[in-house]
Amino acid sequence: MVSARHFPLLLSLTLLLLSLHLSLATSSSQDSQQEPETPIARFQKYLRFNTAHPNPNYTAPVSFLTSLAQSLGLKTQTLEFTSNKPALLITWQGSNPSLPSLLFNSHLDSVPAEPSKWTHPPFSATLTPEGKIFARGAQDDKCIAIQYLEAIRNLKARNFVPTRTLHISFVPDEEIGGIDGADKFVKSKEFKDLDVGFVLDEGQASVNDEFRVFYADRSPWNLIIKAKGVPGHGSRMYDNGAMENLMDSIEVINRFRDSQFDVVKAGKAANSEVISVNPVFLKAGIPSPTGFVMNMQPSEAEAGFDLRLPPTADPDLVKKRIAEEWAPAVRNMTYEIIEKGPLRDYMGRPLMTATDDSNPWWSVFKQAIAAAGGKLAKPEILASTTDARFMRQLGIPTFGFSPMTNTPILLHDHNEFLKDTIFLKGIEGYHLFPVQWEIGKEQGHSSDYIKRQWNFLQSSHGN
Ligand SMILES: [Zn+2]
Repeated sequence: MVSARHFPLLLSLTLLLLSLHLSLATSSSQDSQQEPETPIARFQKYLRFNTAHPNPNYTAPVSFLTSLAQSLGLKTQTLEFTSNKPALLITWQGSNPSLPSLLFNSHLDSVPAEPSKWTHPPFSATLTPEGKIFARGAQDDKCIAIQYLEAIRNLKARNFVPTRTLHISFVPDEEIGGIDGADKFVKSKEFKDLDVGFVLDEGQASVNDEFRVFYADRSPWNLIIKAKGVPGHGSRMYDNGAMENLMDSIEVINRFRDSQFDVVKAGKAANSEVISVNPVFLKAGIPSPTGFVMNMQPSEAEAGFDLRLPPTADPDLVKKRIAEEWAPAVRNMTYEIIEKGPLRDYMGRPLMTATDDSNPWWSVFKQAIAAAGGKLAKPEILASTTDARFMRQLGIPTFGFSPMTNTPILLHDHNEFLKDTIFLKGIEGYHLFPVQWEIGKEQGHSSDYIKRQWNFLQSSHGN
């Protein structure tokens, strides 16, 4: 997505950054008050805040992002729906506030990291000579947080004023379900007042040169099935033992799992388009000082499963299947389903954002990627879950998008990294969105007009 004339700029910037690396690493520890001078240094600084669970530090990164935004002349507001779990809202006022606004969202927190398994400490944000920035959160999703702000910085430097108002939200707790984060945020009066028309949230890295975009998430369920039965001597064969009942269920569930997986293996659907069910724990047996009592069949046994439902699945049918086949009362089974988030929007529709001409935001999104010289992969359902579901629940069109091409997918993995050049290219991708969405409000602007806007932005680069 980098044009020939643009490449030298990125290249020289990267070289400059590489040469600055050592001095930055030392100066940042000496003077944490001073704002870093380059996009990469700002990214590194944000990555160095340890926002990993179970004790994420939210205060320091929120104040860092607040001062970054204020230095750009943006309005900031800290919202606290749960104590010690702040969300930050940044606003770039548009020239026509009567139009629905745009919201770019990211989360402040990250999953834990095991430092001993990393080649560089996970909160060091070490920049290697090859340009890899190692940090927990480098891909998920601190990159987009800084890219949003850098895109605004560049657009402001070119005196661009958006027509629509653009909000950027940084929310807590996404990695633990978002209940005290995005869920409370979208249900607040503050959110309602934003009059959001469209949301961009996090996506995932792409291993090739096509950008990935996600129009839905799968919804997670925790399923626990329990079996009860008559206890007995380990030598006896009898019906309706707890273990036997549980193992029958596991067999049935496994057959269903295979049937879904077969569809994927046959290339008929993506992993994220089927219902996944995976065993995550087994609990049974009578403990003894050396392990388990071996000559007793226990009276209770249970198993836990991680289930993921695509928005196309009918949750009532799945529940029926669980009640009748996976944990039937006739086999002395009980079950518990913990639904970890919404499945339908406020109108009862599946949580999906349209990726066809019925959704004007989709056309605009597609055009923005194309105008920046990028290629877009077939839109996908995300296999896991993000905060986007809470926005989709309100019926707001929401895409998951993190501009990382040619990057291994390392979210939640050891040695998570992002290359500096990819990070910088991603900023370019966001430049066009406010431009595009200004255009998007009036249907029918030609792609020529978009190209002219892009050329204008390119030619005024670096002023
Ligand atoms: Zn994430």
